[in-house]
Amino acid sequence: MTFDAQRSRMVERQLKGRGITDPRVLAAFRKVPRHQFVPEELAPEAYADRPLPIEGGQTISQPYMVALMTSRLRLQGHERVLEVGTGSGYQTAILAELALEVFSVERLPELLAAANTRLEGLGCLNVHLTPGNGSLGWPEHAPYDAIIVAAASPDIPPPLLAQLAEGGRMILPVGGPSAQTLVEAEKRQGAVRRVEIAGCIFVPLVGQHGWRL
Ligand code: SAH
Repeated sequence: MTFDAQRSRMVERQLKGRGITDPRVLAAFRKVPRHQFVPEELAPEAYADRPLPIEGGQTISQPYMVALMTSRLRLQGHERVLEVGTGSGYQTAILAELALEVFSVERLPELLAAANTRLEGLGCLNVHLTPGNGSLGWPEHAPYDAIIVAAASPDIPPPLLAQLAEGGRMILPVGGPSAQTLVEAEKRQGAVRRVEIAGCIFVPLVGQHGWRL
């Protein structure tokens, strides 16, 4: 089966089949070539229903998890989004389809360089990448209408809440290094409303406001 056919099947079965309905989100997953974001030898597995290892001992999340987190942000196209944990750049490419601008912070420079090459190759012009500790956010471009974190921290990092715009939404895994809860946080008139969505497993967010490894 061609990669295109595998990708449409992934969208039908793994995303639509599990209740992802936003047409813009589904269109983004139909478009972004996930097989270009995994190590070459894993390309045949790229559309499988699971996370895969990438460079630096990190992982690219399961397609459904990326879709669930993305759809919770309810992006309409005018937003400025902060992503923490660029990793392969796959989630970044999906966000770039759905928002006005994406700002993404990654701790490991070699992952960031690879993600940059992929995103440039795909012509993603509304993406800005920087190396660093994303638990501190990226204050220069704050506030953000939406924030998404792809690594687990003990609680919502305070700098991220501070950089979230009024009315903005954040989605992130909160909990111990081995298992967490996916949490959606919304900022309304300065107060934070938290909703727990599902259990999940992410790599740890490393550094201040994350885990010290
Ligand atoms: N969204 C990515 C998932 C990558 S896994 C994808 O689609 O491929 C999580 C990423 O978070 C890893 O690349 C890891 O290096 C990064 N990370 C961990 N702690 C971090 C921190 N404090 N700041 C920025 N990135 C961090």
